[in-house]
Amino acid sequence: MKIVRTVSEMQQLSKSLQKEGKSIGLVPTMGYLHEGHQKLLREGRQQNDILILSIFLNPLQFGPTEDLDRYPKNEERDIDVAKNENVDIVFMPSVEEIYPSEMSHNISITKRTNILCGKTREGHFEGVVTVLAKLFNVTIPDNAYFGLKDAQQVSVVKAFVDDFNVPVNIVPVATVREEDGLAKSSRNVNLDTREREEAKYLYRALLHGKEFVEQGETDPKIIISAVSQFIIEHTHGKIDYVDLLSYPNLDHISEVTGDMILAVAVKFNGARLIDNVIFNKSGKLLYT
Ligand code: AMP
Repeated sequence: MKIVRTVSEMQQLSKSLQKEGKSIGLVPTMGYLHEGHQKLLREGRQQNDILILSIFLNPLQFGPTEDLDRYPKNEERDIDVAKNENVDIVFMPSVEEIYPSEMSHNISITKRTNILCGKTREGHFEGVVTVLAKLFNVTIPDNAYFGLKDAQQVSVVKAFVDDFNVPVNIVPVATVREEDGLAKSSRNVNLDTREREEAKYLYRALLHGKEFVEQGETDPKIIISAVSQFIIEHTHGKIDYVDLLSYPNLDHISEVTGDMILAVAVKFNGARLIDNVIFNKSGKLLYT
């Protein structure tokens, strides 16, 4: 397994692999790897000749009051995980390597960012798409793997590659959960004991909402309110949002119809957690 820290070396390597006719899979991450990341790596391993894992804690996608400084890191352990998953190349550049000077262009996103995480995390998705534009140009992947825990990210990134004809196939991967249902996240280690115990109720709240759909409820407002109530009753967290939208377009809906996403974000002291379930109008989960 090769560890590459510079843009020039990575780009040269990818260009020559591409010339040799090798297919390249990219799994972009911010490190502190867990089983969610491993699932992405396993899919990438199966579907490509060369598997690249990028680890880059991207400052551009964090707001000034967010948890960039508290984001967990463990480079050594991440490298061990990568080796165990048969990664070919770990691309782990420094911030200076990715952003050597002030940029003279910025990406502005005009759809799907005035809802869910886009509403409270101003500039977040612009930061995500900017770093991905760089990572795609540097690693030249055929396929790039993204977790549906961050379903809005998947939608925004898919729209970006479609808008700009970026020749990379975006592969969504189902959310990996702890035994009690909590979606795996690097941030979970920042929860204290009580918060970790309460965090399991996010997924339960989503399933509670989905049950309403299964039982024939068609009013999104009733479902959203039941999910919010469930979170308030079971946690001390502060609800950032609970919403039920069409999927994959993420439009507001006035009645339960087609494929939908029920998504939540809850702020605990230790971490802000997000989760979602995606299902059809009968309440059948689309990704498991
Ligand atoms: P991050 O390091 O948090 O930026 O995540 C890197 C990639 O892993 C993103 O595409 C995430 O959506 C994905 N990911 C994070 N947590 C999970 C999970 N529990 N299940 C599946 N994918 C995940």
